[in-house]
Amino acid sequence: MKLRIVVEIVSFVFLGIISFSCSQPDSPEGSFDILITNATIIDGTGREKFSGDILISSDSIAYIGKVDREKVDIDQLIDAKGKVVTPGFIDAHAHGDPVAEADFKNFMNMGVTTICLGQDGFSYASENLSPWMSQIDSTGLGVNVLTFVGHSTLRELSGTNYAPQPTEKQLSSMQEILRQSMMRGAFGLSTGLEYTPGYYAQSPEMEALAKVVGENEGIIMSHMRNEDDDQIEKSIHELLLQGAFAPVHISHLKVVYGKGEERAKHLLSILDSARRTGITVTADAYPYTASYTDIGIVFPDWAKAPNNFEKVRASRRSELEDFLRSKIIRRNGPEATLFGDGKWQGMTLAQVADSLKMSFEKVLIDVVGPEGGSGAYFVMDEELETVIIKDSLVCISSDGSPTMHHPRGYGSFAKMISHYVNETHSLELTDAIRKMTSLPASIIGLKKRGELKVGYKADLLVFDPLEVKDNATYEAPHLYADGFEYVIINGHIAKSPDVEVTERYGLFIRKE
Ligand SMILES: [Zn+2]
Repeated sequence: MKLRIVVEIVSFVFLGIISFSCSQPDSPEGSFDILITNATIIDGTGREKFSGDILISSDSIAYIGKVDREKVDIDQLIDAKGKVVTPGFIDAHAHGDPVAEADFKNFMNMGVTTICLGQDGFSYASENLSPWMSQIDSTGLGVNVLTFVGHSTLRELSGTNYAPQPTEKQLSSMQEILRQSMMRGAFGLSTGLEYTPGYYAQSPEMEALAKVVGENEGIIMSHMRNEDDDQIEKSIHELLLQGAFAPVHISHLKVVYGKGEERAKHLLSILDSARRTGITVTADAYPYTASYTDIGIVFPDWAKAPNNFEKVRASRRSELEDFLRSKIIRRNGPEATLFGDGKWQGMTLAQVADSLKMSFEKVLIDVVGPEGGSGAYFVMDEELETVIIKDSLVCISSDGSPTMHHPRGYGSFAKMISHYVNETHSLELTDAIRKMTSLPASIIGLKKRGELKVGYKADLLVFDPLEVKDNATYEAPHLYADGFEYVIINGHIAKSPDVEVTERYGLFIRKE
């Protein structure tokens, strides 16, 4: 420990000297909006931290280096002594309604300054996103928001819906809406092939859409067809086919009921091999071992829309019971499914079955049903997930929202520091910060954010890493994280220890 501190101090001083003597001009003069002094700067690129001051002018970073206080006029001063300054975090995969939940305090309180919406195949359903974006511009946002175009949404808008194959006209309509949406500022396509109607899509449709994404320099974010241990490799290969036409990205990479470090390394090696053939492929992950989604995830496709569940229940009952029994047992049993909403919120499937004196498969069929709510599913292995999270091309997401009954929407980014950096030392702080800032920005194609660099947008955090704490739990998932003292968004102090800020400084970011 002592040695590490010495090494850090030495490299700190050394890099400090380099940065002041080589790369920085003389102390600037004139008026600036914010000065952050005495900062330990972690610039987001993964390079060593260094000390310095930061000047912010309007919405941008104006200067990084040593500031002579005599020469500058300052509106607001932040003394960052004993603290680090980093870029604001970028959540590569988030959920929420930018109209109804525009404050997005859950994200801001864990240091997130930009969230990526329109995920898992579902986005705002309109052929023209511009009026919606403008409306949000006028009502304001607590954090920056950007969007992808949902593939299932395209199926709905084009009239394809649940058809296995779109007609030629429907396919060109999907392509055209996607193209128009990207021209209006969407960052690419999201798919949710585990959910209907996206589930019905086959390769030719996906490739036709991938071409549009590639032509418009976007990316495909994919909730893959199946994340189960025995299906995930097939799902990755399906996504890699689209990688011939556009960069592809695996959303919330995890292995449902897979275990161990070796398993994770094997999957990551598939991605490495694909990269060697010229495919751009990346992933994000959240730092929890329970997933969260609609209970429909455990039901077979033949029991879900457009099929009629009531009919299936009457005609294929014992088949459905067998399916659910074996699926739930493979997913670590009924104790590992925790209801997140509705009448059974906070109870596991095992507890509900006990209290009703019914088998758990009967509870699912007769009490809950495929549209009967959402739950957390304890189906992941920490060892396996840690290897994924540490991979240098995996960035961090929350996959959370202000309302979801899962701690990840309130804790993910804080937990990366409190757990992976402070507790288990699995990651260096500079690496963890890179995974939450410059890495997601470069994956998504988000310009001028994710790094502390002159000319970049001033989305910044000031905090003591040892004070960062994720408070949300499965029992109490809506507790804000602690420790992020200042959150600066687009050059404005959006969170401060001194005053409660109510103004919204986030923007709807359009792809350039
Ligand atoms: Zn998803």
